[in-house]
Amino acid sequence: MFLLALTLLCVQLLCGAAGAWAGGPWGAAAGVALGSWLYWLWQGWRGLRVLAWLRQQGEPPVLHGVRGLWGEALDRTRRLLRQHERHVAASDARLQAFLQALQASPNGVILLDARGQIEWCNQTAAEHFGLDAERDLMQSIGNLLRAPEFSAYLAAGDFRQDVQLTGSASTSTHPVRLSVHLHPYGEGRRLMLSRDITQVEQADAMRRDFVANVSHEIRTPLTVLAGFVETLQTLPLEEDERARYLALMAQQAQRMQHLVQDLLTLSRLEGSALPGLDNWTDVRQLLARCEQEARTLSAQVTPAGAPPQRLTFPTAQQLAQCGALAGNPEELHSALSNLIGNAVRYTPAGGSISVDWQCLPDGGARFAVRDSGPGIAPEHLPRLTERFYRVDRSRSRDSGGTGLGLAIVKHSLQRHGATLQIRSVLGQGSEFSALFPARRVRGAAASEKV
Ligand code: ADP
Repeated sequence: MFLLALTLLCVQLLCGAAGAWAGGPWGAAAGVALGSWLYWLWQGWRGLRVLAWLRQQGEPPVLHGVRGLWGEALDRTRRLLRQHERHVAASDARLQAFLQALQASPNGVILLDARGQIEWCNQTAAEHFGLDAERDLMQSIGNLLRAPEFSAYLAAGDFRQDVQLTGSASTSTHPVRLSVHLHPYGEGRRLMLSRDITQVEQADAMRRDFVANVSHEIRTPLTVLAGFVETLQTLPLEEDERARYLALMAQQAQRMQHLVQDLLTLSRLEGSALPGLDNWTDVRQLLARCEQEARTLSAQVTPAGAPPQRLTFPTAQQLAQCGALAGNPEELHSALSNLIGNAVRYTPAGGSISVDWQCLPDGGARFAVRDSGPGIAPEHLPRLTERFYRVDRSRSRDSGGTGLGLAIVKHSLQRHGATLQIRSVLGQGSEFSALFPARRVRGAAASEKV
Protein backbone atom coordinates (compact mmCIF):
# COMPACT_ATOMS: atom_id res chain seq x y z
CA MET A 1 0.00 0.00 0.00
CA PHE A 2 2.86 2.26 0.91
CA LEU A 3 4.62 1.47 -2.38
CA LEU A 4 1.40 2.14 -4.29
CA ALA A 5 1.05 5.59 -2.71
CA LEU A 6 4.75 6.33 -3.25
CA THR A 7 4.55 5.37 -6.96
CA LEU A 8 1.46 7.56 -7.40
CA LEU A 9 3.20 10.45 -5.65
CA CYS A 10 6.31 10.08 -7.84
CA VAL A 11 4.20 10.04 -11.03
CA GLN A 12 2.26 13.10 -9.83
CA LEU A 13 5.48 14.95 -8.92
CA LEU A 14 7.15 14.14 -12.23
CA CYS A 15 4.10 15.13 -14.29
CA GLY A 16 3.56 18.26 -12.06
CA ALA A 17 7.20 19.31 -12.55
CA ALA A 18 6.92 18.79 -16.30
CA GLY A 19 3.64 20.83 -16.30
CA ALA A 20 5.23 23.64 -14.18
CA TRP A 21 8.18 23.82 -16.55
CA ALA A 22 5.85 24.01 -19.56
CA GLY A 23 3.00 26.24 -18.20
CA GLY A 24 3.67 27.65 -14.73
CA PRO A 25 1.33 26.89 -11.73
CA TRP A 26 -1.66 25.99 -13.98
CA GLY A 27 0.61 23.72 -16.00
CA ALA A 28 1.79 22.07 -12.73
CA ALA A 29 -1.83 21.42 -11.65
CA ALA A 30 -2.70 20.00 -15.08
CA GLY A 31 0.48 17.84 -14.95
CA VAL A 32 -0.48 16.40 -11.53
CA ALA A 33 -4.02 15.64 -12.77
CA LEU A 34 -2.70 14.04 -15.98
CA GLY A 35 -0.14 12.02 -14.00
CA SER A 36 -2.90 10.71 -11.71
CA TRP A 37 -5.02 9.76 -14.71
CA LEU A 38 -2.15 8.04 -16.46
CA TYR A 39 -1.30 6.14 -13.29
CA TRP A 40 -4.85 4.91 -12.70
CA LEU A 41 -5.23 4.02 -16.41
CA TRP A 42 -2.08 1.92 -16.17
CA GLN A 43 -3.34 0.22 -13.01
CA GLY A 44 -6.75 -0.29 -14.64
CA TRP A 45 -5.13 -1.90 -17.70
CA ARG A 46 -3.16 -4.30 -15.52
CA GLY A 47 -6.29 -5.08 -13.50
CA LEU A 48 -8.18 -5.86 -16.71
CA ARG A 49 -5.45 -8.32 -17.75
CA VAL A 50 -5.66 -10.10 -14.41
CA LEU A 51 -9.44 -10.16 -14.67
CA ALA A 52 -9.25 -11.57 -18.22
CA TRP A 53 -6.94 -14.34 -16.98
CA LEU A 54 -9.22 -15.13 -14.04
CA ARG A 55 -12.15 -15.41 -16.47
CA GLN A 56 -10.28 -17.72 -18.86
CA GLN A 57 -8.41 -19.63 -16.16
CA GLY A 58 -5.44 -20.04 -18.49
CA GLU A 59 -1.77 -19.38 -17.73
CA PRO A 60 -1.40 -16.40 -15.33
CA PRO A 61 -0.09 -13.28 -17.19
CA VAL A 62 3.45 -12.17 -16.30
CA LEU A 63 3.48 -8.60 -15.12
CA HIS A 64 7.26 -8.12 -15.31
CA GLY A 65 9.14 -6.72 -12.37
CA VAL A 66 6.05 -5.30 -10.74
CA ARG A 67 5.56 -5.95 -7.10
CA GLY A 68 2.57 -3.72 -6.81
CA LEU A 69 -1.00 -4.44 -5.96
CA TRP A 70 -1.73 -6.57 -9.03
CA GLY A 71 1.59 -8.38 -8.87
CA GLU A 72 0.87 -9.45 -5.30
CA ALA A 73 -2.73 -10.35 -6.12
CA LEU A 74 -1.42 -12.47 -8.99
CA ASP A 75 1.22 -14.16 -6.85
CA ARG A 76 -1.28 -15.03 -4.16
CA THR A 77 -3.80 -16.32 -6.71
CA ARG A 78 -1.07 -18.39 -8.36
CA ARG A 79 -0.07 -19.88 -5.00
CA LEU A 80 -3.69 -20.64 -4.09
CA LEU A 81 -4.17 -22.26 -7.49
CA ARG A 82 -1.10 -24.50 -7.06
CA GLN A 83 -2.25 -25.46 -3.57
CA HIS A 84 -5.67 -26.31 -4.96
CA GLU A 85 -4.13 -28.38 -7.79
CA ARG A 86 -2.01 -30.32 -5.30
CA HIS A 87 -5.08 -30.91 -3.16
CA VAL A 88 -7.08 -32.17 -6.17
CA ALA A 89 -4.19 -34.46 -7.23
CA ALA A 90 -3.95 -35.92 -3.69
CA SER A 91 -7.72 -36.47 -3.54
CA ASP A 92 -7.62 -38.08 -6.96
CA ALA A 93 -4.77 -40.41 -5.89
CA ARG A 94 -6.72 -41.34 -2.75
CA LEU A 95 -9.83 -42.06 -4.82
CA GLN A 96 -7.83 -44.21 -7.25
CA ALA A 97 -6.25 -46.17 -4.37
CA PHE A 98 -9.70 -46.68 -2.88
CA LEU A 99 -11.14 -47.89 -6.20
CA GLN A 100 -8.13 -50.19 -6.68
CA ALA A 101 -8.82 -51.71 -3.25
CA LEU A 102 -12.47 -52.26 -4.22
CA GLN A 103 -11.29 -53.72 -7.53
CA ALA A 104 -9.09 -56.21 -5.64
CA SER A 105 -12.00 -57.34 -3.47
CA PRO A 106 -13.00 -61.00 -4.00
CA ASN A 107 -16.61 -59.83 -3.78
CA GLY A 108 -18.56 -57.90 -6.40
CA VAL A 109 -18.98 -54.19 -5.58
CA ILE A 110 -21.40 -51.84 -7.36
CA LEU A 111 -21.99 -48.19 -6.39
CA LEU A 112 -25.52 -47.05 -7.20
CA ASP A 113 -26.72 -43.45 -7.23
CA ALA A 114 -30.04 -42.27 -5.80
CA ARG A 115 -31.83 -43.33 -9.00
CA GLY A 116 -30.38 -46.84 -8.93
CA GLN A 117 -27.92 -46.16 -11.77
CA ILE A 118 -24.48 -47.74 -11.76
CA GLU A 119 -21.82 -45.15 -10.88
CA TRP A 120 -18.99 -47.67 -10.66
CA CYS A 121 -18.57 -51.44 -10.51
CA ASN A 122 -15.58 -53.72 -10.06
CA GLN A 123 -14.59 -56.57 -12.39
CA THR A 124 -15.91 -59.27 -10.04
CA ALA A 125 -19.39 -57.69 -10.06
CA ALA A 126 -19.21 -57.39 -13.86
CA GLU A 127 -18.46 -61.15 -14.05
CA HIS A 128 -21.16 -62.04 -11.53
CA PHE A 129 -23.90 -60.20 -13.41
CA GLY A 130 -22.54 -60.26 -16.99
CA LEU A 131 -22.04 -56.46 -16.99
CA ASP A 132 -19.56 -54.32 -18.91
CA ALA A 133 -17.80 -52.11 -16.34
CA GLU A 134 -17.48 -49.26 -18.91
CA ARG A 135 -20.50 -49.61 -21.20
CA ASP A 136 -23.07 -50.14 -18.46
CA LEU A 137 -22.09 -47.10 -16.37
CA MET A 138 -25.12 -44.92 -15.53
CA GLN A 139 -27.48 -47.72 -16.58
CA SER A 140 -30.27 -48.59 -14.19
CA ILE A 141 -29.48 -51.78 -12.21
CA GLY A 142 -33.17 -52.73 -12.32
CA ASN A 143 -33.03 -52.79 -16.13
CA LEU A 144 -29.82 -54.80 -16.26
CA LEU A 145 -30.67 -57.43 -13.61
CA ARG A 146 -34.00 -58.92 -14.55
CA ALA A 147 -34.11 -61.88 -12.11
CA PRO A 148 -37.57 -61.76 -10.46
CA GLU A 149 -36.04 -62.32 -6.99
CA PHE A 150 -33.82 -59.26 -7.43
CA SER A 151 -36.63 -57.07 -8.83
CA ALA A 152 -38.80 -57.99 -5.82
CA TYR A 153 -35.89 -57.29 -3.43
CA LEU A 154 -35.23 -53.90 -5.04
CA ALA A 155 -38.93 -52.96 -5.05
CA ALA A 156 -39.48 -54.01 -1.41
CA GLY A 157 -36.70 -51.67 -0.25
CA ASP A 158 -36.01 -53.82 2.84
CA PHE A 159 -32.27 -54.41 2.68
CA ARG A 160 -31.69 -56.00 6.10
CA GLN A 161 -31.22 -59.43 4.47
CA ASP A 162 -29.46 -60.55 1.31
CA VAL A 163 -31.10 -62.17 -1.69
CA GLN A 164 -29.84 -65.28 -3.50
CA LEU A 165 -29.60 -65.24 -7.29
CA THR A 166 -28.24 -67.40 -10.09
CA GLY A 167 -25.03 -65.95 -11.59
CA SER A 168 -24.94 -64.92 -15.25
CA ALA A 169 -22.29 -67.58 -16.05
CA SER A 170 -24.35 -70.38 -14.50
CA THR A 171 -24.91 -73.53 -16.57
CA SER A 172 -26.56 -76.85 -15.73
CA THR A 173 -23.13 -78.51 -15.30
CA HIS A 174 -21.49 -75.54 -13.51
CA PRO A 175 -24.14 -73.78 -11.45
CA VAL A 176 -23.20 -70.40 -9.96
CA ARG A 177 -25.15 -69.04 -6.99
CA LEU A 178 -24.72 -65.50 -5.68
CA SER A 179 -25.67 -63.74 -2.48
CA VAL A 180 -26.54 -60.09 -3.20
CA HIS A 181 -26.91 -57.48 -0.47
CA LEU A 182 -27.75 -53.78 -0.83
CA HIS A 183 -26.50 -51.30 1.79
CA PRO A 184 -27.95 -47.74 1.75
CA TYR A 185 -25.45 -44.88 2.29
CA GLY A 186 -25.11 -41.14 1.61
CA GLU A 187 -28.14 -39.37 0.17
CA GLY A 188 -30.20 -42.21 -1.29
CA ARG A 189 -27.11 -43.99 -2.65
CA ARG A 190 -26.67 -47.77 -2.32
CA LEU A 191 -23.70 -50.08 -2.12
CA MET A 192 -24.40 -53.43 -3.76
CA LEU A 193 -22.23 -56.37 -2.67
CA SER A 194 -22.30 -59.77 -4.37
CA ARG A 195 -20.62 -62.97 -3.13
CA ASP A 196 -20.20 -66.34 -4.83
CA ILE A 197 -21.89 -68.87 -2.52
CA THR A 198 -21.88 -71.83 -4.92
CA GLN A 199 -19.41 -73.82 -2.83
CA VAL A 200 -21.15 -72.99 0.44
CA GLU A 201 -24.49 -74.16 -0.99
CA GLN A 202 -22.88 -77.31 -2.41
CA ALA A 203 -21.21 -78.06 0.92
CA ASP A 204 -24.56 -77.57 2.69
CA ALA A 205 -26.27 -79.95 0.26
CA MET A 206 -23.45 -82.48 0.71
CA ARG A 207 -23.74 -82.25 4.48
CA ARG A 208 -27.49 -82.80 4.31
CA ASP A 209 -27.06 -85.79 1.94
CA PHE A 210 -24.33 -87.20 4.15
CA VAL A 211 -26.44 -87.06 7.31
CA ALA A 212 -29.39 -88.61 5.44
CA ASN A 213 -27.14 -91.39 4.08
CA VAL A 214 -25.56 -92.16 7.44
CA SER A 215 -28.96 -92.29 9.10
CA HIS A 216 -30.23 -94.61 6.39
CA GLU A 217 -27.16 -96.88 6.58
CA ILE A 218 -27.49 -97.20 10.35
CA ARG A 219 -31.26 -97.54 10.39
CA THR A 220 -31.30 -100.59 8.09
CA PRO A 221 -29.18 -102.93 10.28
CA LEU A 222 -30.79 -101.50 13.41
CA THR A 223 -34.28 -102.38 12.12
CA VAL A 224 -33.11 -105.90 11.29
CA LEU A 225 -31.51 -106.26 14.73
CA ALA A 226 -34.63 -104.99 16.51
CA GLY A 227 -36.74 -107.48 14.53
CA PHE A 228 -34.53 -110.42 15.55
CA VAL A 229 -34.50 -109.29 19.19
CA GLU A 230 -38.29 -109.18 19.19
CA THR A 231 -38.48 -112.63 17.59
CA LEU A 232 -36.08 -114.06 20.18
CA GLN A 233 -38.07 -112.45 22.99
CA THR A 234 -41.51 -113.53 21.84
CA LEU A 235 -41.11 -116.88 20.04
CA PRO A 236 -39.97 -120.15 21.61
CA LEU A 237 -37.20 -121.19 19.15
CA GLU A 238 -35.25 -124.36 18.59
CA GLU A 239 -31.56 -124.20 19.50
CA ASP A 240 -30.32 -124.25 15.87
CA GLU A 241 -32.84 -121.61 14.83
CA ARG A 242 -31.77 -119.46 17.72
CA ALA A 243 -28.12 -119.88 16.72
CA ARG A 244 -28.98 -118.89 13.12
CA TYR A 245 -30.76 -115.73 14.28
CA LEU A 246 -27.87 -114.82 16.57
CA ALA A 247 -25.43 -115.28 13.67
CA LEU A 248 -27.55 -112.95 11.52
CA MET A 249 -27.66 -110.41 14.36
CA ALA A 250 -23.89 -110.58 14.71
CA GLN A 251 -23.59 -109.90 10.96
CA GLN A 252 -25.73 -106.76 11.23
CA ALA A 253 -23.81 -105.56 14.28
CA GLN A 254 -20.56 -106.07 12.40
CA ARG A 255 -21.95 -104.08 9.48
CA MET A 256 -22.67 -101.17 11.81
CA GLN A 257 -19.21 -101.52 13.31
CA HIS A 258 -17.61 -101.28 9.85
CA LEU A 259 -19.69 -98.23 9.06
CA VAL A 260 -18.69 -96.44 12.26
CA GLN A 261 -15.05 -97.43 11.67
CA ASP A 262 -15.11 -95.97 8.13
CA LEU A 263 -16.85 -92.81 9.34
CA LEU A 264 -14.18 -92.34 12.00
CA THR A 265 -11.43 -92.91 9.42
CA LEU A 266 -12.96 -90.26 7.16
CA SER A 267 -13.30 -87.76 9.97
CA ARG A 268 -9.67 -88.41 11.01
CA LEU A 269 -8.55 -87.82 7.41
CA GLU A 270 -10.44 -84.54 7.28
CA GLY A 271 -9.32 -83.31 10.67
CA SER A 272 -5.62 -84.16 10.81
CA ALA A 273 -2.59 -82.31 9.47
CA LEU A 274 -1.18 -83.29 6.06
CA PRO A 275 1.34 -86.16 6.27
CA GLY A 276 4.91 -84.91 6.16
CA LEU A 277 7.87 -86.10 4.10
CA ASP A 278 10.00 -87.36 6.97
CA ASN A 279 8.24 -90.61 7.82
CA TRP A 280 9.22 -93.37 5.34
CA THR A 281 7.26 -96.59 4.95
CA ASP A 282 8.76 -99.74 3.43
CA VAL A 283 6.50 -100.78 0.54
CA ARG A 284 7.59 -104.46 0.93
CA GLN A 285 6.20 -104.55 4.46
CA LEU A 286 3.16 -102.52 3.49
CA LEU A 287 2.28 -104.93 0.66
CA ALA A 288 3.11 -108.00 2.75
CA ARG A 289 0.48 -106.86 5.28
CA CYS A 290 -2.02 -106.15 2.46
CA GLU A 291 -1.30 -109.58 0.90
CA GLN A 292 -1.95 -111.39 4.16
CA GLU A 293 -5.25 -109.55 4.66
CA ALA A 294 -6.27 -110.12 1.01
CA ARG A 295 -5.64 -113.89 1.21
CA THR A 296 -7.68 -114.13 4.44
CA LEU A 297 -10.52 -112.09 2.90
CA SER A 298 -10.38 -114.16 -0.31
CA ALA A 299 -10.75 -117.37 1.68
CA GLN A 300 -13.71 -115.85 3.56
CA VAL A 301 -15.60 -114.69 0.46
CA THR A 302 -15.03 -117.82 -1.61
CA PRO A 303 -17.99 -120.19 -1.15
CA ALA A 304 -17.19 -123.69 0.03
CA GLY A 305 -16.33 -125.96 -2.90
CA ALA A 306 -15.83 -123.06 -5.37
CA PRO A 307 -12.46 -122.57 -7.11
CA PRO A 308 -10.21 -120.11 -5.22
CA GLN A 309 -9.25 -116.68 -6.55
CA ARG A 310 -5.73 -116.31 -8.03
CA LEU A 311 -3.86 -113.52 -6.25
CA THR A 312 -0.47 -112.27 -7.47
CA PHE A 313 1.72 -109.73 -5.69
CA PRO A 314 5.04 -108.15 -6.75
CA THR A 315 8.24 -109.91 -5.74
CA ALA A 316 10.75 -108.47 -3.26
CA GLN A 317 13.11 -107.55 -6.20
CA GLN A 318 10.35 -105.66 -7.97
CA LEU A 319 9.80 -103.63 -4.82
CA ALA A 320 13.44 -102.86 -4.06
CA GLN A 321 14.08 -99.97 -6.45
CA CYS A 322 11.47 -97.42 -5.43
CA GLY A 323 10.25 -99.27 -2.40
CA ALA A 324 9.76 -96.53 0.19
CA LEU A 325 6.89 -94.09 0.48
CA ALA A 326 6.81 -90.91 2.56
CA GLY A 327 3.67 -90.25 4.54
CA ASN A 328 1.34 -91.66 7.14
CA PRO A 329 1.74 -95.49 7.21
CA GLU A 330 -1.83 -96.12 8.40
CA GLU A 331 -3.35 -93.90 5.72
CA LEU A 332 -1.19 -95.51 3.02
CA HIS A 333 -2.19 -98.96 4.24
CA SER A 334 -5.86 -97.98 4.36
CA ALA A 335 -5.76 -96.73 0.73
CA LEU A 336 -3.93 -99.71 -0.78
CA SER A 337 -5.75 -102.38 1.25
CA ASN A 338 -9.14 -100.87 0.37
CA LEU A 339 -8.34 -101.15 -3.35
CA ILE A 340 -7.11 -104.74 -2.98
CA GLY A 341 -10.07 -105.59 -0.73
CA ASN A 342 -12.56 -104.28 -3.32
CA ALA A 343 -10.91 -106.37 -6.07
CA VAL A 344 -11.19 -109.47 -3.84
CA ARG A 345 -14.79 -108.76 -2.81
CA TYR A 346 -16.11 -108.00 -6.30
CA THR A 347 -14.22 -110.70 -8.25
CA PRO A 348 -16.10 -114.01 -8.43
CA ALA A 349 -14.55 -117.31 -7.29
CA GLY A 350 -11.87 -118.58 -9.68
CA GLY A 351 -11.13 -115.02 -10.92
CA SER A 352 -7.72 -113.37 -10.82
CA ILE A 353 -6.40 -110.34 -8.93
CA SER A 354 -2.98 -108.97 -9.63
CA VAL A 355 -1.20 -106.26 -7.66
CA ASP A 356 1.58 -104.28 -9.34
CA TRP A 357 4.25 -101.81 -8.19
CA GLN A 358 6.19 -99.84 -10.80
CA CYS A 359 8.87 -97.14 -10.66
CA LEU A 360 8.09 -94.29 -13.03
CA PRO A 361 10.68 -92.47 -15.21
CA ASP A 362 9.96 -89.16 -13.40
CA GLY A 363 10.97 -90.71 -10.05
CA GLY A 364 7.42 -91.41 -8.90
CA ALA A 365 5.78 -94.81 -8.47
CA ARG A 366 2.57 -96.51 -9.57
CA PHE A 367 0.54 -98.96 -7.53
CA ALA A 368 -2.12 -100.90 -9.48
CA VAL A 369 -4.71 -103.60 -8.71
CA ARG A 370 -6.16 -105.40 -11.72
CA ASP A 371 -9.03 -107.86 -11.42
CA SER A 372 -11.07 -110.05 -13.71
CA GLY A 373 -14.30 -109.07 -11.94
CA PRO A 374 -17.60 -107.76 -13.32
CA GLY A 375 -16.20 -104.38 -14.39
CA ILE A 376 -18.03 -101.07 -14.05
CA ALA A 377 -20.12 -99.26 -16.68
CA PRO A 378 -18.55 -95.94 -17.80
CA GLU A 379 -21.40 -93.77 -16.49
CA HIS A 380 -20.60 -94.84 -12.90
CA LEU A 381 -16.85 -94.17 -13.05
CA PRO A 382 -16.88 -90.40 -12.31
CA ARG A 383 -19.07 -90.92 -9.22
CA LEU A 384 -17.37 -93.98 -7.67
CA THR A 385 -15.41 -91.98 -5.09
CA GLU A 386 -18.49 -90.14 -3.79
CA ARG A 387 -19.50 -91.13 -0.28
CA PHE A 388 -22.08 -93.94 -0.25
CA TYR A 389 -22.11 -94.22 -4.04
CA ARG A 390 -22.55 -97.84 -5.08
CA VAL A 391 -22.98 -99.38 -8.50
CA ASP A 392 -24.97 -102.28 -7.13
CA ARG A 393 -26.34 -101.65 -3.61
CA SER A 394 -27.26 -105.19 -2.66
CA ARG A 395 -24.01 -106.60 -4.00
CA SER A 396 -22.00 -104.06 -2.01
CA ARG A 397 -23.93 -104.79 1.20
CA ASP A 398 -23.72 -108.56 0.68
CA SER A 399 -19.96 -108.30 0.43
CA GLY A 400 -19.76 -106.19 3.62
CA GLY A 401 -19.22 -102.85 1.85
CA THR A 402 -20.08 -99.54 3.50
CA GLY A 403 -19.96 -97.42 0.34
CA LEU A 404 -17.17 -95.32 1.89
CA GLY A 405 -14.13 -97.36 0.78
CA LEU A 406 -13.21 -95.44 -2.36
CA ALA A 407 -13.97 -92.07 -0.70
CA ILE A 408 -11.38 -93.02 1.96
CA VAL A 409 -8.92 -94.16 -0.74
CA LYS A 410 -9.24 -90.92 -2.70
CA HIS A 411 -8.89 -88.76 0.41
CA SER A 412 -5.84 -90.66 1.71
CA LEU A 413 -4.14 -90.53 -1.69
CA GLN A 414 -4.86 -86.83 -2.14
CA ARG A 415 -3.25 -86.10 1.21
CA HIS A 416 -0.09 -87.79 -0.12
CA GLY A 417 -0.13 -85.86 -3.40
CA ALA A 418 -1.12 -89.06 -5.24
CA THR A 419 -3.91 -89.46 -7.79
CA LEU A 420 -6.38 -92.30 -8.24
CA GLN A 421 -7.04 -93.62 -11.74
CA ILE A 422 -9.86 -96.04 -12.55
CA ARG A 423 -10.09 -98.04 -15.74
CA SER A 424 -12.83 -100.58 -16.19
CA VAL A 425 -14.65 -102.45 -18.92
CA LEU A 426 -18.04 -103.91 -18.14
CA GLY A 427 -17.82 -107.70 -18.09
CA GLN A 428 -14.02 -107.75 -18.36
CA GLY A 429 -12.62 -106.38 -15.11
CA SER A 430 -11.20 -103.22 -13.56
CA GLU A 431 -7.89 -101.60 -12.80
CA PHE A 432 -7.53 -99.15 -9.91
CA SER A 433 -4.16 -97.40 -9.76
CA ALA A 434 -2.49 -94.80 -7.55
CA LEU A 435 0.26 -92.52 -8.90
CA PHE A 436 2.68 -91.27 -6.25
CA PRO A 437 4.78 -88.16 -6.94
CA ALA A 438 8.59 -88.37 -6.98
CA ARG A 439 8.97 -86.35 -3.75
CA ARG A 440 7.22 -89.14 -1.82
CA VAL A 441 9.16 -92.06 -3.33
CA ARG A 442 12.70 -93.36 -2.77
CA GLY A 443 14.69 -96.61 -2.76
CA ALA A 444 13.77 -99.23 -0.17
CA ALA A 445 17.29 -99.56 1.26
CA ALA A 446 17.09 -96.22 3.04
CA SER A 447 13.60 -96.75 4.32
CA GLU A 448 12.46 -97.26 7.87
CA LYS A 449 10.14 -99.95 9.09
CA VAL A 450 6.32 -99.66 8.88
P1 ADP B 1 -18.22 -100.46 -1.11
O1 ADP B 1 -18.04 -100.46 0.32
O2 ADP B 1 -19.65 -100.53 -1.54
O3 ADP B 1 -17.36 -101.41 -1.83
P2 ADP B 1 -16.53 -98.49 -2.31
O4 ADP B 1 -16.48 -97.03 -2.12
O5 ADP B 1 -15.32 -99.25 -1.95
O6 ADP B 1 -17.81 -98.98 -1.55
O7 ADP B 1 -16.85 -98.78 -3.83
C1 ADP B 1 -17.90 -98.09 -4.46
C2 ADP B 1 -18.54 -98.95 -5.51
O8 ADP B 1 -17.60 -99.17 -6.57
C3 ADP B 1 -18.87 -100.32 -5.02
O9 ADP B 1 -20.16 -100.36 -4.47
C4 ADP B 1 -18.79 -101.16 -6.27
O10 ADP B 1 -20.02 -101.11 -6.93
C5 ADP B 1 -17.77 -100.44 -7.12
N1 ADP B 1 -16.43 -101.11 -7.12
C6 ADP B 1 -15.38 -100.80 -6.38
N2 ADP B 1 -14.33 -101.60 -6.66
C7 ADP B 1 -14.74 -102.43 -7.62
C8 ADP B 1 -14.14 -103.51 -8.36
N3 ADP B 1 -12.85 -103.85 -8.17
N4 ADP B 1 -14.86 -104.14 -9.30
C9 ADP B 1 -16.15 -103.79 -9.51
N5 ADP B 1 -16.79 -102.79 -8.85
C10 ADP B 1 -16.12 -102.12 -7.93
